[in-house]
Amino acid sequence: MTATKHDRNAWFKGGIANCQVTLAPGARTYRMVLLGAPGVGKGTQAELISERLGPCQLSTGDVFRAAKTLDPSERTPALSAALDYMKRGELVPDETVIGIVRERPNCLRCPGGFLLDGFPRTVHQAEALESILGVLSMKLDAVLSYDLPIDQIVSRLSGRRTCGACKAVYHVTTKPPKVADVCDLCGGKLILREDDRPEAIRVRMEAYEKSTSPLADYYRQRGLLVSIAAEGSPEDIYKRTAAALAARP
Ligand code: AMP
Repeated sequence: MTATKHDRNAWFKGGIANCQVTLAPGARTYRMVLLGAPGVGKGTQAELISERLGPCQLSTGDVFRAAKTLDPSERTPALSAALDYMKRGELVPDETVIGIVRERPNCLRCPGGFLLDGFPRTVHQAEALESILGVLSMKLDAVLSYDLPIDQIVSRLSGRRTCGACKAVYHVTTKPPKVADVCDLCGGKLILREDDRPEAIRVRMEAYEKSTSPLADYYRQRGLLVSIAAEGSPEDIYKRTAAALAARP
């Protein structure tokens, strides 16, 4: 078991991380990537894996959502342009996203490990990640790929609600908050993310099919891909994930 207190602000805003991560003797450090179309439940699995196995969840989408709350004068021009792409449901240009990851080596070096969520999304981003990790003398341990039929994806996405303040994720039927539209954790207001609206979902799925599917091949060729059926409850999916990881050398 790993005792972790992650300083996710270091990931959201860049800069020095102030995390307290204590690895128990013999505990494994996981450096992983999560793959799966929007709505397969990657975010929920990331939370469970992070809580139980220790790696910090590093989501590039969360960096952009955090940037939205900054005063426009505090955003770099690249970040402002990225937010326009995101609002339209389009992918942000590779070089912008790669720059964001490259600027946060402290999070990648974390002794508790990391769980990249939403990055890489293209083969070009995957190659860049390999080179960023190479400079840090690190390698990925596994790439978890969550698979789910498309009709189930649409139903999951349309019910998803996100806390506007702390970014916790709920679902109107499968993971409702105690009080409707209010975050259990911080009392923030729950919102339907702009990029979870039906028009944006369609664009995101098209972008996913076109750019991200080849990533599975890329990682399969490197012996890193671990495919997991994303059906059933979050706990079922987590058990499958933990078993698949335990089976790896
Ligand atoms: P997510 O929360 O991962 O679904 O990301 C939300 C949005 O942020 C995406 O629809 C993109 O506009 C942008 N984004 C996040 N990560 C990436 C990435 N690796 N490459 C390109 N765009 C990204």
